Amino acid sequence: MSEETGSKSVVKVQHPASSRKVNKVPYVELHGGRVQGVVSSGSDAARVYVSFFDAGTLNYYCSTNNNRPCGGLRGGPCKHLTALMGEAVLQYGAPKVGRYLKIAADPAALTSSYDVMRYITGAKTKEEASLVFSRFLSYLRYVEYEGTPEPMPEMAWFTVG
Ligand SMILES: [Zn+2]
Repeated sequence: MSEETGSKSVVKVQHPASSRKVNKVPYVELHGGRVQGVVSSGSDAARVYVSFFDAGTLNYYCSTNNNRPCGGLRGGPCKHLTALMGEAVLQYGAPKVGRYLKIAADPAALTSSYDVMRYITGAKTKEEASLVFSRFLSYLRYVEYEGTPEPMPEMAWFTVG
């Protein structure tokens, strides 16, 4: 648990302009009134975190795929939530993410994930990870799917820069 504490200070919110870090945040989407996704653990390759922000309330939560609460959720979003937001902004653009979350700012004025994070004023709100994670697992089916030349709209999130 100690690896998580104080992590906010080392989080980098700057990202290179284009490529998504699929191995760090394999899955991010705007779905069901949430910005949600799966974030790899920095230290344990077998562990992933399921993180989300709720639109409107701007509440957030982060837990492992086994529903263990993230140790970094003290007093604000953890590094996984910060990473998730960074990737959401890379994939969808800050204005779209801000508008989706209904944050109290002019979406057009948002230029980075840092801009959006400043408006995350909610609190941590426990919620089952299984819903998000089961969606992720269903997407993983497509990764193992036999290759097809046809575009698969369901795979649009799986962007490699
Ligand atoms: Zn976390």
